[in-house]
Amino acid sequence: MRKTPIYLDNNATAPLRSSAVTAMNEAMGPPANPSSVHSFGRNARLIVEQAREAVSMLAGCRPADVVFTSGGTEANNIVLAQYNHVITSTIEHDSVRHAHDHCQQIAVDHNGVVDVAALAAAIAHIDDAQRPHTLISIMAANNETGVIQPIAEIAEMARRANIAFHSDMVQMFGKRRIEFTASDISYASLSAHKIGGPAGVGALLVRPGSRLSSLLRGGGQEQGRRAGTENLVGIAGFGGAAEDALGDIRHYQKMAKWRDDFEARMLAERGGIQIFGQGAPRLGNTSSIAARGKSAETMVMAFDIAGVAISAGAACSSGKVKSSHVLESMGAGPRAGEAVRISGGWATCIKDFETLADVFLHLYKKPA
Ligand code: PLP
Repeated sequence: MRKTPIYLDNNATAPLRSSAVTAMNEAMGPPANPSSVHSFGRNARLIVEQAREAVSMLAGCRPADVVFTSGGTEANNIVLAQYNHVITSTIEHDSVRHAHDHCQQIAVDHNGVVDVAALAAAIAHIDDAQRPHTLISIMAANNETGVIQPIAEIAEMARRANIAFHSDMVQMFGKRRIEFTASDISYASLSAHKIGGPAGVGALLVRPGSRLSSLLRGGGQEQGRRAGTENLVGIAGFGGAAEDALGDIRHYQKMAKWRDDFEARMLAERGGIQIFGQGAPRLGNTSSIAARGKSAETMVMAFDIAGVAISAGAACSSGKVKSSHVLESMGAGPRAGEAVRISGGWATCIKDFETLADVFLHLYKKPA
């Protein structure tokens, strides 16, 4: 194993940025309830509002649209709970798929792109009285494949139909420019630990006029939209990471070339390679790739021994790898069990992708 392992599992979580650590260290120590009126409380409020400003800059929204939560999972759950009926897709994160009892799931094509015609048909079936109680929830970019969804088109369809539209932007945030205010999106979910902030903090963006009542009963924090004393240290870290991440968009554009070169090399030098979502627009950092005859679990372990950290298809939430609902709904069949997910992040460099390619070729010898 190499001395310093290479980390290519950023869609699971990204390394903490020093800007986040500094911001958290500064927030830690003095008693700090942002609702207190004394000077300690006012200082804490300042930290929260600076972080809100930084997050809003990265998301292209107004600071007032940012509601801090305990992460992407909570942000997704809050929005879905506001509506009686939800139209979503087969490739959403479990925190959307399992958050509502009345979820209608729209299929995706073999590249993992939501079937917009099927969505339009589903919308057409909703009568006028039901529309204010219906939510469309489609993610911006998939966590397993990086495939980007046509959310501008979907948001426009939703606006015309007078139906609220939510997008889980947890994976898109910080990697591509988000212009929330300029869009037709009603709500967006974000998570700090995917951009180099701490886990356990995130945000829900809420367009003015979109309904939102706190899921938790308690105090009036976050303008009555999310009860509970603010996670000051986490929020400070989120803000620190967001400030730093403003410069990342170009980094991810460059990474798309490193990722594409890696995939091209695998396809040219080895047989039995399949790349999922390659025919669709994708985030520049993600590759979902299968090597025929090699189970994902075996590959992940072999990579780990060789000093490269990747994951099997979906991130496993309890240490166990479960079959991927995303790849299955793309029609991957048994090959879904061979798919590994490679995902670069803010700290990834070209050499990491080159080493990844060398290790892959070493572990998988099947000739092209
Ligand atoms: N949505 C997507 C697309 C994700 O990838 C994740 C995390 O893996 C989440 C939501 C959940 O975010 P959090 O870990 O902040 O709860």
